[in-house]
Amino acid sequence: MRVAVGALLFEGNSFSLSRAGIEAFENNYLERGQDVLSKLRGGGVEVSGALSVFDKAEAEIVPLIASHGGCGGAVRRRVFEQLRDELVAPLAHGPVDGIYLALHGAMACEETDHPEVELLRMVRAAVGDIPIVVSLDLHGNVTPDLVDLCTAIVCYQQYPHDDAFETGIRGARLLLHALAGHPLRMAYRKLAMLISPTTGGTRLSPAMRAIYRECRALEGVPGVLAASYFMLTPWLERRDGGSGFVLVVDDPAIDAGALADALIAKLWAARHAFVPKLTTVEAAIAETIGAEAKPIILSEMSDAVGAGAGGDSVYAVRQFLALDTGAALLAQVVDPEVVAQAAQSPLGAELTVAVGNKIENRYGPPIVLKARVMRFFDGAFTYSGGLMSGVRASIGSSVVLQAGKLTLLVSTYPSYEYADEQYRAAGLDPRQFEFVLVKNPMNFQQTYAWAPKLFALDTPGAAAADLARLDWTLCERPFFPLDDGPQPYMRP
Ligand SMILES: [Zn+2]
Repeated sequence: MRVAVGALLFEGNSFSLSRAGIEAFENNYLERGQDVLSKLRGGGVEVSGALSVFDKAEAEIVPLIASHGGCGGAVRRRVFEQLRDELVAPLAHGPVDGIYLALHGAMACEETDHPEVELLRMVRAAVGDIPIVVSLDLHGNVTPDLVDLCTAIVCYQQYPHDDAFETGIRGARLLLHALAGHPLRMAYRKLAMLISPTTGGTRLSPAMRAIYRECRALEGVPGVLAASYFMLTPWLERRDGGSGFVLVVDDPAIDAGALADALIAKLWAARHAFVPKLTTVEAAIAETIGAEAKPIILSEMSDAVGAGAGGDSVYAVRQFLALDTGAALLAQVVDPEVVAQAAQSPLGAELTVAVGNKIENRYGPPIVLKARVMRFFDGAFTYSGGLMSGVRASIGSSVVLQAGKLTLLVSTYPSYEYADEQYRAAGLDPRQFEFVLVKNPMNFQQTYAWAPKLFALDTPGAAAADLARLDWTLCERPFFPLDDGPQPYMRP
């Protein structure tokens, strides 16, 4: 048995001005050929999980490429084409019995509105009618085309995404099941309903937890192999954007469509629970200033790199500084110019820097600060969990600046925030500050669950949590939460 294994993931954001080049993939992981096996066996990503199953089954593995580019506005076309072609090329060198691919489902790229569909069309053209099992981030865009191209689709079960490895296992088992001759069938249903990830946590959001339980219970029914929910990241605007379910069954007697319809009715009924409660910087400070317990966590999720924003906003920092609280704030911002400027100076030097708001320049100019160079940092860190678990990643050359009570970690590249790895690797302990600014819609709620108070900030940006703030031009109306009615709005 020969199975091909590959991965190509990236989460796009249509509202973001940032663009991803090849370094976005290299800064996370990008393995080719035999390195896919040697570097990812024993690791924590999807391919690692899949390899553990295929190795046990003594399958011969044909490695393709395996890469996660993190998140951003869109992948540059030539970069996508290069990676796409590298992934498909080995399939020309002899037949395989089946393919497992870890994809995201919400990649954005110029000249296509569904890069994964484009990739899978090429894979299908290369291999014909063999089983292809695909795993997706649950923030992916499942569409009829995608379903048609795959034998089975399975999504992460958890958000924060702590189950990349397990998802690889589930995908690989489905592929082995198909290769053993079981006829897999999928049912797919999708609502015109967008869910702000802030309220979409599978452990912390009661409404999402209920959907999680429904799906796990269904998977206990004989013949139902996988019941996945997906909630397209709302920041990837698509004409047919929405949330829904994809079921995989192997028993022809099961009415999988009816099961999916029942899930759809439950998700629609719960829709109002997914509207996030947000706070202004001013209100968050007024509520907590002077509190003994620290730190207070402020999430400027509208600039979340993990949601595709540029990570270079200083909107919330500016608002915080304007309140003149005298409290210590730790924040991070992407600004390669400032890193380069600081690199010209010795440690301890005082500089005048204009920092931030250079990619995301729509909500104010850079902040001008007199700042001291406290530390240089090479940017390397290791993800402690989540979809990059164990991956050695980088934010590029970085510098820690101190301006009054503001401590700023300035990096060359953006990076996905799973927990607080970037701060810690730069020698910064969030516990030492009265306020810590993070840029994350969801994971921070888990990372900083121990902190006395966490606020989801109502700030503007490419990943604004308040979906009404976004400049929608494409997503077909009606859709929730912009529109509402008693009957579910369905997508084709
Ligand atoms: Zn996701």
